[in-house]
Amino acid sequence: MDAAEFRKRGKEMVDYIADYLEKIDKRQVFPDVEPGYLRPLIPDCAPQDPESFEDVFKDIEKIIMPGVTHWHSPYFFAYFPAASSFPALLADMLCGGIGCVGFSWAASPACTELETVMLDWLGKMINLPEAFLAGKDGQGGGVIQGSASEATLISLLAARTKTIRWLQSEKPELTEADIMSRLVAYASDQAHSSVERAALIGAVKIKKVPSGDTFSVCGSALKKVLDEDKASGLIPFFFCATLGTTPCCSFDKLLELGPICNKENIWMHIDAAYAGSAFICPEFRHLLNGVEFADSFNFNPHKWLLVNFDCSHWQIPLGRRFRSLKLWFVLRMYGVTGLQEHVRKGSNELNKALLKSINEAKKIHLVPCHLREKFVLRFAICSRTVESTHIKFAWQHISQLATDLLKTWEQNHHQQ
Ligand code: PLP
Repeated sequence: MDAAEFRKRGKEMVDYIADYLEKIDKRQVFPDVEPGYLRPLIPDCAPQDPESFEDVFKDIEKIIMPGVTHWHSPYFFAYFPAASSFPALLADMLCGGIGCVGFSWAASPACTELETVMLDWLGKMINLPEAFLAGKDGQGGGVIQGSASEATLISLLAARTKTIRWLQSEKPELTEADIMSRLVAYASDQAHSSVERAALIGAVKIKKVPSGDTFSVCGSALKKVLDEDKASGLIPFFFCATLGTTPCCSFDKLLELGPICNKENIWMHIDAAYAGSAFICPEFRHLLNGVEFADSFNFNPHKWLLVNFDCSHWQIPLGRRFRSLKLWFVLRMYGVTGLQEHVRKGSNELNKALLKSINEAKKIHLVPCHLREKFVLRFAICSRTVESTHIKFAWQHISQLATDLLKTWEQNHHQQ
């Protein structure tokens, strides 16, 4: 493919993607295929001779799309949101075009420097303490990597090295193997499985700290296991706090846990994979209070901040893609206010508009109420004859109207 054909095909691909996203609600959100569906549809080995772009392109609809779970469908309610936006897609295209491998400053100065600055922007957006920022002196700072799992692993390995070095400087007779066999990492019983995997890879023990009634770990629960383990000769060295647990979005109590970790010389890592994006809204930032006690912090803008996969912090590989372009495009083209609106989604105005459309359609009838400053749609079960079918119908109707409303709102928003 030469540059002339690339121009033509690139435009076709952009049209294809725009059509795909614009009409995604018409596709079945989860595919019908069975495991192993794909292998019989393509040759056993790579073609000897080149094929045309048309040949490849037509197989997208024929072979790939029938096996795609449409994460960006408005009917997709599984796992977590996979962020995406047109600015991020364009930036990813540019990243592919530049195609640099940013393993050092000289390998691509813009790649290194934009990443540093973007992570400072993000850090400031969620009001991280100064120590987490690179600033002009380059004291703190973050990097982008693929996933929250990698970030947890890196933090655990860093904590392990730090503890081993420190213990060996205190007691030179201790071998690395002695120390390793006694190291213990901790996380909530609600923490993501990636924390357990990090401990497995890091060859250290891991213990689950019981969460309380609200599925959060509190200081006393951690203190209890630490005391027991220290009494039996183990060395606690790492605690992974979760802000926004996978099953129910609970928050570990950083303000209680942080001082304990600091006192006990335990590295506290914060995994805020999904919920971290919410901290850009001042009304949610209090959930991050206590971050000042942490040694490392990670969240995934690719889950909620309109930056498509992959975009998380702290890294293993030497080579890096120019991923900060995605952040740069998205942060500039949405602005902090636009992203805050995205996280908040249901503003009072939207809720009022939804109620108006529900009551104008006259299929069901609702009245609102105010809970302090929040405009709330109140759904009361009123009639003696109401059945679950009526409620299901109402729910589908409300959901449909809300989807339509959000679509119009997003279209208007993107045009601005
Ligand atoms: N941590 C939490 C709290 C999560 O909810 C998830 C994924 O859902 C992860 C970690 C793993 O994320 P990643 O795929 O970025 O490794």
